[in-house]
Amino acid sequence: MCGIVGYTGHREAYPIIITGLKRLEYRGYDSTGVALLNNGLKVYKKKGRVADLEENIIGKDLHAHIGIGHTRWATHGEPSDRNAHPHQSASGKLAMIHNGIIENYAQIKKELENKGYHFTSDTDSEVLLNFIEDIQQNNECDLEEAVRVALKRVTGAYCILLIAEEDPNTIIAARKGSPLVIGVGKGEHFLGSDASPMLEYTKEVVYVNDYELAIVRPDELILKNLGNEKITPFITKLDMELAAIEKGGYEHFMLKEIFEQPSTIQDCLRGRLNAAAGTITMAGVENNIEQLKNANRIMIVACGTSWHAGLIAEYVIEELCRIPVEVEYASEFRYRNPIVNKGDVIIAISQSGETADTLVALERAKANGAFIFGVVNAVGSSIARLSHAGAYTHSGPEIGVASTKAFTGQLAVLNMMALKIAKAKGTITDEYYQQLLNELQDVPEKVASILKNTDELQRIAAKYKDAHDFLFLGRGYNFPIALEGALKLKEISYIHAEGYPAAEMKHGPIALVDENLPVVFVATKDSYHEKIVSNMQEIKARKGKVISIITEGDLVSPTISDDVFSIPPADELIAPLLSVIPLQLLSYYVGTLKGIDVDKPRNLAKSVTVE
Ligand code: GLU
Repeated sequence: MCGIVGYTGHREAYPIIITGLKRLEYRGYDSTGVALLNNGLKVYKKKGRVADLEENIIGKDLHAHIGIGHTRWATHGEPSDRNAHPHQSASGKLAMIHNGIIENYAQIKKELENKGYHFTSDTDSEVLLNFIEDIQQNNECDLEEAVRVALKRVTGAYCILLIAEEDPNTIIAARKGSPLVIGVGKGEHFLGSDASPMLEYTKEVVYVNDYELAIVRPDELILKNLGNEKITPFITKLDMELAAIEKGGYEHFMLKEIFEQPSTIQDCLRGRLNAAAGTITMAGVENNIEQLKNANRIMIVACGTSWHAGLIAEYVIEELCRIPVEVEYASEFRYRNPIVNKGDVIIAISQSGETADTLVALERAKANGAFIFGVVNAVGSSIARLSHAGAYTHSGPEIGVASTKAFTGQLAVLNMMALKIAKAKGTITDEYYQQLLNELQDVPEKVASILKNTDELQRIAAKYKDAHDFLFLGRGYNFPIALEGALKLKEISYIHAEGYPAAEMKHGPIALVDENLPVVFVATKDSYHEKIVSNMQEIKARKGKVISIITEGDLVSPTISDDVFSIPPADELIAPLLSVIPLQLLSYYVGTLKGIDVDKPRNLAKSVTVE
């Protein structure tokens, strides 16, 4: 993971880099560093957040017009000052930052040690840097050529930015598997893991592709492949404003993003769903409708919260389209030699569009002839570019590490996609199709009404915040919501939580139930409702504490529950878009009551670009 920033141009580099790093801190935050070039290299780095580095370098010489910065998510070597990036080469003349993992670093390290190199950190990144310097010295070639030679030898993933005393205007950058965006200004260039560090300076960006190398100077951007052939940079216009990546008065990004959901879901539906006309417009689906409706099967590949969206989509697509669906963890899928054939459709779900495991899984499936459909939030991201077709969730930048608005965006897209395929296939009645269109259209308003009513959730959070364990139970379309509720709570409150299908509880988890165990039931009105009410009784009979998310007007569940939270009625296919909201808020309130920085919970990072 990790966030990287670079600048070369006429402005002071340090303020741009430090502001950029704060925006990229969601990608990693265990240590921070910058390297500036002005009459020699100056490298400042520190274990901790960007703010810790800033405090630590007050009064230092920060004047420079070129520099690079890094906020780390450690993979090789503990978070510490010496493992922080940028790293300096043995000669002290090169500085480099790296996002990713060099998988064959140990072998290269041994070779360099045999030549007398000493390493000052435990990172794979420092090995790559010295490898580059060693090649440059031995081959007597320029730095650009040395980078090319080194990168042809390494395996794994990287985005690197490199500056050198010998060439004090130039940043050399390269990527494979980790993202890199270059912002094009007048007499200046900006580099970042995403576009957020450059938003106020330029809207013209180049998304660098795998195996490309960029030579970046104030007035010049040269893009080449690793074979030293020039590539014409393709400039894209950014459609994002600064306000979208600021907190806008909320205490945390996570809270802001939860509260944005009425408008982000609306943005996702806008221009697509027209309930009055009975239509859904999705070019990615329309243009490939034969492929999609005739799919032998659909495989959904995702990680984390996106995987939960995939599980719901499995139920929805099978129900509406009658196409067999399998949902895979991308990390498992890519290593287990799955059977993927021509005629299979892969739906890849990813907020960032950069999830390393999902990306590699897709490349494999694509090579086997599968049709790839991307459901992605980040416009222009690697997965979006690799897919044959897709639909953006249009949720806007999601910065809180715990995914919220991207999840509901994914559900909205997947529901529309299923409805469109079902309609084309003739597997849904006209009445039910129209009903679901109407219900989808009402979702933003219903989410807004849930968000007006947070006092009750704050009270429930305060009551149970000291519990050691939580169980989340749901059936049918709400089973993945139970998984998601448990994941959210784990992520941002550090309370152990498990999600389970409510009926499976009897096969194990029920042994955990005693008077100290809060059990959250996602028990909105659906075809399984009476069954889940029986499951509540089973928990109650064993003195567990029952917290129920129910549909307004349900008079039975409150009589069994210790605490209830009601949400507006909805068809069971649509209900997950609503039932997840109170669970997001419950986790948020428990996390903040426990004093946790919910935007940056320990050990996590948002965009998982390592495998
Ligand atoms: N593998 C490198 C390290 O452990 C980079 C990790 C990152 O992407 O932050 O330092």
